[in-house]
Amino acid sequence: MEKMNAIVKGKRQTGAEITKVNRPKIMENEVLVEVEAASICGTDVHIWDWNEWAQKRMKRIPIIFGHEVAGKVAEIGKNVTSVRVGDRISAETHIADNTCYQCRTGRKHVCKNMEILGVDRDGVFAEQFALPEENAWKNDPHLDLGIASIQEPLGNAVHTVLPKEHVEDIAGKNVAVLGTGPIGLMAIAVLHELGAAKIFATAGGLNKVRMNLAERMGADMVLSAKEEGERLVKSIVDATDGNGVDVALEMSGDPSAVRQAFEMLTPGGRVSLLGVLDKPMELDLNTAMIFRSATVYGITGRRMFETWYQVKGLLARPGFKEKISAVITHRIPIGDIGKGMDLIESKQAAKVVLEPTW
Ligand SMILES: [Zn+2]
Ligand SMILES: [Zn+2]
Repeated sequence: MEKMNAIVKGKRQTGAEITKVNRPKIMENEVLVEVEAASICGTDVHIWDWNEWAQKRMKRIPIIFGHEVAGKVAEIGKNVTSVRVGDRISAETHIADNTCYQCRTGRKHVCKNMEILGVDRDGVFAEQFALPEENAWKNDPHLDLGIASIQEPLGNAVHTVLPKEHVEDIAGKNVAVLGTGPIGLMAIAVLHELGAAKIFATAGGLNKVRMNLAERMGADMVLSAKEEGERLVKSIVDATDGNGVDVALEMSGDPSAVRQAFEMLTPGGRVSLLGVLDKPMELDLNTAMIFRSATVYGITGRRMFETWYQVKGLLARPGFKEKISAVITHRIPIGDIGKGMDLIESKQAAKVVLEPTW
């Protein structure tokens, strides 16, 4: 059998190896996809670093990791009807079982038996990968491959802004985004497109690349928590006539940012929590949520597939698409993945796209 190149996490330690593996065999309900672009997610950095989360979460080693992707369908299983050979697709990376309580009650994105591409089964840092038909999202064939590959995290951003139908209006509201990683940056662009009044962005450190991008995405005020210290919340509350923000989106997973998200929230406002914390944290629920009458959403994944349609609709707007492409700061050959990891860890990069040059 003809072999292919893949990036394999083969050992329970830092790094990964580029090696030859067998090409995936597809099942009747799956499609074989030729990778045309992949992007590096925070999850991939954790897997590469082999941090505590990865040590606990990764059950299957060796595994091909990576999940954010754009590619071309090379082969289809015999029961596949909605996707054809040659279609350009991206992947919804959460694979639902379609039979559990959540799946049968319209909440597939929190399927109890969820498998994640590149975490629980072989992923996309390879020449080809297998994907269930249901998880193949058809792209406009003219969509830039880099942008096509980051629709999955863009979906996270959209889902954090709009966690369900008929959530409060964003137009004319003051919104804060805590954290200026790629998903935070994309959320700013989404808020701007939806007509938010004032958009505040807070960065943990003093990273100029990301703070400048936050401005470019449409933030009206970009504040560094490091620089502002204790004044951070007050600066934002003062800039909203003393009211605080209507919506706060926590994208950093930093406990102090979680507290600030509530402190800067106007009573009756809404918080979406997307950032994943390293460990349990303390929070005074009385002042943060109860007496503030706060609505709180925990955000994971994207709605399947409502969010994908929202992403597609937003990307059809040229100005929005152009902004999102600015989040891709580097495009490098996939063979240089180690360099990509360094660029992200040193925060010189926002989104790094890997091109299929081995
Ligand atoms: Zn991801
Ligand atoms: Zn399920």
